[in-house]
Amino acid sequence: MIDGLSRKTIDGETGLATQGEPVYGEPTEDGWRLWDRSRSKLAVLLDRDVETGLDDDSTVLYLGAASGTTVSHVADVAGPTYAVEFAPRPTRDLLDVAADRPNLFPLLKDAREPETYAHVVEPVDVIVQDVAIRGQADVALTNKQFLRDDGRLVLSVKARSEDVTRDPESVFEDVRQRLEDGYEIEYAESLDPFHDDHLGIVATPE
Ligand code: SAM
Repeated sequence: MIDGLSRKTIDGETGLATQGEPVYGEPTEDGWRLWDRSRSKLAVLLDRDVETGLDDDSTVLYLGAASGTTVSHVADVAGPTYAVEFAPRPTRDLLDVAADRPNLFPLLKDAREPETYAHVVEPVDVIVQDVAIRGQADVALTNKQFLRDDGRLVLSVKARSEDVTRDPESVFEDVRQRLEDGYEIEYAESLDPFHDDHLGIVATPE
């Protein structure tokens, strides 16, 4: 188990928990906050003991941070955490989340344009990506420049964001093939039942 991550039962719910200020009304006890799998694809993978590369000293680039639900837990356990989000409204909430977390750096940027934040982001051990837009593999490929040679990409692919009309399995196959232009896929499994029609991928740079 990663330092700073523990399995807890709080208010009758059992799951992974981190230590930090609460963010989204999650159950808390003695400074621990439950990490809700139904609101976080990364939590599903960690709960399955998938090797994500996340550790207490990892540097993280998080793409698609939204209001900070998942990235707040990441910053609770990891080192410097760069959180990219392109929508102004959730980024305002993210700034509040970062106020309690000196290692969390919100960036109001488009993950398809890494050159706009390349001057800020250092080489990272883990890229977590959850952007839910068309071209999810391309976003991962274009941000690979930040990933250390021994780092890991933790990608959540939402089938409907690629094409609502297509069978999710064939969308996932296309995304996997495109991703293999720059990554070797170590793990790829559905995130059901917590996130319908999402594929969780862990990959290493080639
Ligand atoms: N990862 C978040 C969590 O678990 O708390 C939820 C992310 S939500 C599914 C997807 C987010 O990605 C949205 O907030 C959306 O604005 C953001 N997003 C989509 N395309 C983006 C892009 N090109 N650059 C940055 N953020 C993007």
